[in-house]
Amino acid sequence: MMRRIVVTAGCIDAVWIPLYAWFGSPRLAMLNVVSVILYLSAWRLLVRRHNRVAVSLIWAEVLTHAAIGSLLLGWDSGFHYFLLLFIPAIVVGSVRRLAVPMVLAVFVFYVGLDALCDAYAPLQPISTSALRMAKWLNMGLIFGMFFTMASLYRNTILRAERRLLAQATTDALTGLANRSHFQLLASAEIARSRRSGKPLALILSDIDFFKRINDEFGHEAGDTVLLELATLLTACLREVDILARWGGEEFLVLLPDSDERGAAEVAERIRQKVCAARIRVADREIAVSMSFGVTQIGADRDLRAATACADRALYRSKQQGRNQVNLASAAGKVESPGEAAPAARDTSADGA
Ligand code: GH3
Ligand code: MG
Ligand code: MG
Repeated sequence: MMRRIVVTAGCIDAVWIPLYAWFGSPRLAMLNVVSVILYLSAWRLLVRRHNRVAVSLIWAEVLTHAAIGSLLLGWDSGFHYFLLLFIPAIVVGSVRRLAVPMVLAVFVFYVGLDALCDAYAPLQPISTSALRMAKWLNMGLIFGMFFTMASLYRNTILRAERRLLAQATTDALTGLANRSHFQLLASAEIARSRRSGKPLALILSDIDFFKRINDEFGHEAGDTVLLELATLLTACLREVDILARWGGEEFLVLLPDSDERGAAEVAERIRQKVCAARIRVADREIAVSMSFGVTQIGADRDLRAATACADRALYRSKQQGRNQVNLASAAGKVESPGEAAPAARDTSADGA
């Protein structure tokens, strides 16, 4: 943002150089040449991240420019308006406890300059019409600068707000909804399902032997597996389904308009896709599997009770050998065709 301000201010000062020459004020034209050089230096300092020095340079430029402009052409030239820009700049950018003394210092400078301009005639007077034009141009610039500053601050705040919202609602590693955001979305879905009478189902899944992946291939490989599986799960689901990272290596899916059977079919499809997938980590390929617990959220159940139910079904999947789907209802395990891939192993050498 500072770089943009510096570039804008430098360009404005450059445009003024011929105007001052035309107004018959070569000293001010020279002053603007110096200002442009100062803004160029400030820009270079900002690029090199010497922010404090750059800001001090900008401060010095605005103060001296306002003072010299007012003393040369008189108070009516409107150069003093630029000092007002310090108020938002100080309040937004400074250390909070210094804001009041700094604004007071600018105020004293402003009043002092007014008194000096009152006491002494302009050092280099220009014609009345040129003076009026300089004042209007300065007023226009001040309006433009306040508008630009306000817009920049607003955009900065909006960007920060968006970033904070993303951080608060998504899991940093996978980009999926996090636990608390899922709970929020789920409560809305549960209320909708109760109103409409349409079914709502839940799938809780857990990567099998994930600790082994971390132990054998490293934590980063574990992270890659989590990320890849999150992508795979997302691809298997509808847009209306809500997928979240529930815990370390657990994913939770809420499926609107789906009953337990329908959700079990989805879980089985995911299980097969996970089994068939080979996740590339560095120069190796890892085969993984997942276990699933599926339940339906009835009118008498909240998310906590439904998750506990799905967890019990998931526990059965783990107990019965992993890499399978179990229903929370009496229906039990979903029969799966074919043989499951052994969980969490390096397949790089397979069939080579
Ligand atoms: P099971 O088949 O019974 O689920 O065994 P498991 O090894 O998957 O389960 P366990 O609970 O013993 O281990 C889960 C591991 O997940 C332990 C923890 O270090 C790891 N983990 C949790 N969060 C992350 C993460 O963000 N990144 C990585 N790489 N590992 C994680
Ligand atoms: Mg696990
Ligand atoms: Mg687990």
